[in-house]
This record gives sequence, C-alpha cells and structure tokens, in this order.
Amino acid sequence: DFEQVVCQGCGVGIQVEDKEKPGFVPASALENEMIICQRCFRLKHYNEVQDVPYTDSDFLKMISQIGETNGLIVKIVDIFDFSGSFIKSMHRLTGKNPILLVANKVDLLPKSTNLNRLKHWMKKAAADLGLTVQDVCLVSAKTGQGYQDVKAAIESYRKGKDVYVVGCTNVGKSTFINYLINDSTGEQDAITTSYFPGTTLGFIEIPLDEQSSLFDTPGVINRGQIAHYLSKKDLKVITPTKEIKPRVYQLNEQQTLFVGGLARFDFVKGERQAFVCYFANSIELHRTKIEKADSLYQEHLGGLLSPPSSEIEHFPALQERTIKVTAEKTDIVFPGLGWITLSGQPATITVSTPYDVPIMKRDAII
Ligand code: GDP
Repeated sequence: DFEQVVCQGCGVGIQVEDKEKPGFVPASALENEMIICQRCFRLKHYNEVQDVPYTDSDFLKMISQIGETNGLIVKIVDIFDFSGSFIKSMHRLTGKNPILLVANKVDLLPKSTNLNRLKHWMKKAAADLGLTVQDVCLVSAKTGQGYQDVKAAIESYRKGKDVYVVGCTNVGKSTFINYLINDSTGEQDAITTSYFPGTTLGFIEIPLDEQSSLFDTPGVINRGQIAHYLSKKDLKVITPTKEIKPRVYQLNEQQTLFVGGLARFDFVKGERQAFVCYFANSIELHRTKIEKADSLYQEHLGGLLSPPSSEIEHFPALQERTIKVTAEKTDIVFPGLGWITLSGQPATITVSTPYDVPIMKRDAII
C-alpha cells in the first residue's frame, strides 16, 4: 500500500509533478535517503527561503495550527496594497497569539511620506479590519530600511517564544526572511540553518536560539489582489520598482482621470483643485471630460488605456462608487495600484474599477 512521503524539513507531502506547488522534488531526488522539498533545500544550502503558494483550504488548515501554539505572529503586508494583502480570514485561526504587523516595501513611498502618520493609519486600518495588533513596523526588505526597528520589536514582543511569519504571496515575505537570515549570519546569535528538525506543520523552521525558532509559513494566494486579474506583463507595469514620483493634476469639475484602463476617477463636483496621483511611474494617466469618458474607455481600453493590454473582451465591467470629501486631506486608495490625494476642499468623486477590489478612503499619509 501507498505511504505518503513527507519532507524531512517541514513535513509537507512530497510530490514530483509540479515545481510551483508545495512539496516538489525532482524525481531523481526520491532515491535519496533523506528527502527534503525544494523550499527546504534552498534554505539549507543557500540560506534562502522561497515562497510556495498554497490553495485557500490547505493554507487555512495549516495556519489554524498556529492557534494551538504559543508565540508571536509577524504578519507581513505590502504597504502598497494594504487591504489587498491583508488576509482577513486568518485572524480567527491564529488564536490568542500577539501580532506584530509589518508593512513591507516602504522604499516605494515618496521620501516625503510621514511614516508616523502612516503607522497610525495602519493601526487604525488593522483595527477596522478586526485585528488588534501589538505594534506596527514599516520596513523595506529590499533596502533594509526599518530592519533594526523590526528586529527589536520582534525580540521585545516574542518574550523568548517562537515567531510565526505569515503573509500572502508577493508581499515580500521570502525577501524579508532572507534578509533576516543573512543579516544574522556571522553574528553571535547567527541563524544556523544547518539545524534542521522535522516538523509536521508544513512550516520551515529557522532556529533563533536554543529554545525557540522562527517559522516561515506558506504564502496564500489572496483573491483580493489586483494581481489576479492581470497578465504577468501588465503586472510589471503596475508594480512600482522604485520610489514613486507624485503626479499633480489640476482638474475642473466634470473632468475624468484614467489610471491606465484599470481605474477611472471622475471629479463630479467642486471647485477647481489639485489631485496628486501616486502610481507606479510606468502607468500612464489620461485626462478627459466626464461626458467623453465612456466612449474613450470603450474605444481605447487595451490601447491608449492600458494595462490591461490583452484579453480585453474578458475584462470585467467597471463598478462605480461615489465618495464625498470635506475639509480633511484625503487619499482615495485603489488597492494594489496606488492612490490619489485630495487637498481637503469639498469634492464629490465617482471612482470606478473593473475588478472586485474595494476602493478605500483614508486620511492622507503624505
Ligand atoms: P513572497 O511571495 O511574499 O515571498 O514575496 P517575494 O519575497 O518573492 O517578493 C515579491 C516581489 O516583491 C519580488 O518581486 C520582490 O523583489 C519584491 N519585493 C520584496 N520586498 C520588497 C521591498 O522591500 N521593496 C520593493 N520595492 N520590492 C520588494
């Protein structure tokens, strides 16, 4: 009879069919005495973790095991796609463990961003999404910005216990952990990845000291991310790779801005005012009159208005939402894409996006 072979590193079921899925090993590796999956192999030999996406139900099953343990949860989100990368369903599964919320990719924000205000906003936004966090940190796994703070926060909140790093795919979880591993190497408290105990959690275990470890949990694909509606090529266009340059538009009422073909912003009513746009520098913005916007969209989606650059016929219809802004400087956020800042002069705005990702309003972070 058949017995499932499991990885000696993380305990995940071994398979040889799909490189992209959990537990993959090349067929030839099945003959080894000790079988470890590709993800564990990379950690062991290259000091590098790699993210492998799980399906929702497998992921939730795995995450629910954290509820039975006792440790600090480090939840990573993408600051550029806060709500899209939040994984709301996770919280009821992680038990009573304290949570440190870490927003990654802070290097993408303009230097003028008020990071304290942003942290404040993150705390409030997390609470609004039903999550109480011990603290919030901002980091860049790419540049190392904020790392000392996050390390100190982890040390202080974990109180000698284990650490579970969770986050959906593409938030930079692997980059974050790899930075931690490489940063520690050579120091006295070096992470020794040669220590390789078998676990049954499907988590990769990286020892922190004699008593405790950091666990890398698998990433889940979050349907709320705009990424799932776009081709790889389009994703490249919308994903910022360096500091965003704000683009300022002076609009009169009854004017529209298109963010590629992915979002439409109608200034319905209000005095002429400035709108500051924060999107990847590679996304083109187009201004037109509201009365012309429908036909422009129909005629030029996929061309002048792109991304999307392909499969236009399958693209979902735009869904509208009207937002009123009064008195406060406000950001209208298109999760995964960017945001537009309003000065606080009274304005009525109608925003539309073709995908099922909720548009949000927040106090301006810049
Ligand atoms: P994972 O799926 O969560 O493990 O994410 P990865 O670590 O594979 O990173 C996803 C993408 O985000 C990659 O293209 C990374 O280069 C990029 N990335 C990760 N961290 C940062 C960061 O701090 N800043 C920027 N600009 N990009 C990052």
